[in-house]
Amino acid sequence: MNKDIATPVRTKEILKKYGFAFKKSLGQNFLIDPNILRNIVSYANLTEKTGVIEIGPGIGALTEHIARSAGKVVAFEIDGRLLPVLEDTLSPYGNVEIVHQDILEANLAQIVEEHFADYEEIVVVANLPYYVTTPIIMKFLLGKVPIARMVVMMQKEVADRITAVPGTKAYGSLSIAIQYFMDAEVSMIVPKTVFMPQPNVESAVLLLTKKESPPAYVIDEDFLFTVSKGSFIQRRKTILNNLQSSMPDGKAKKEQILAAFEKVDMDPGRRGETLSIEEFAKLSNALYEDFF
Ligand code: SAM
Repeated sequence: MNKDIATPVRTKEILKKYGFAFKKSLGQNFLIDPNILRNIVSYANLTEKTGVIEIGPGIGALTEHIARSAGKVVAFEIDGRLLPVLEDTLSPYGNVEIVHQDILEANLAQIVEEHFADYEEIVVVANLPYYVTTPIIMKFLLGKVPIARMVVMMQKEVADRITAVPGTKAYGSLSIAIQYFMDAEVSMIVPKTVFMPQPNVESAVLLLTKKESPPAYVIDEDFLFTVSKGSFIQRRKTILNNLQSSMPDGKAKKEQILAAFEKVDMDPGRRGETLSIEEFAKLSNALYEDFF
């Protein structure tokens, strides 16, 4: 087996060879601990029949660990300065394809069709650039591409919000949007010391596993997310007040909103953080006709 990229000594050697300077604006915090990488890959449960999409390979630290276990890796890197580095560091691995593109601009359906037609499942594995964690995850969830699971490193505070349950401070529209599609659990907490340079925040590896079916019947998913987002605009306000200010013509539609609460037998004085996804689904279904 090749020597790991992700040791402090080898990482420094590579950075020096290419005169690479980190760009904070691109969330460049590279992993320098092979144990963490082994853990990430073990949570991803990869086999020869798994196709992996990676976001932000950096100098290839995580990519090579994925390549050793998966059938194929397609890795999206936005920073063109890293392309010659990756060509060098990943040259021992014939099953890696680097795409020089912002992941948020990528056509995922096309990537899946071109690269993963012969694979049994597609898994996303990444040490995410923290400044775009939520848009990246939502792109995969809403993109209608068949992603079986995601194992993603992120800021611990965001992982806490994603996995939060009703009645807690961290619970909000992000918890609902992600848990509607995926079961979410924190696999491990990661200290700052395993990164170069060290980030200012603690990190966590999150495992998201696709739910077999949504947790509730929903007439219109986008509308569910609009209602749940609108219900948390001001956490200390009631859902009724929040919806009146967040929904189009909400003020004028107070009576309709109240009628929707009555229809589902729900107290309009509740706060968003007390509602489960199933309750948000019921409420948004009841409100749907009034807003369309
Ligand atoms: N995977 C490497 C590791 O673990 O050491 C690097 C992870 S680093 C936290 C994030 C990487 O994502 C950087 O290489 C950065 O250039 C890249 N990146 C930042 N924004 C991106 C975007 N929108 N699309 C694709 N890659 C991005």
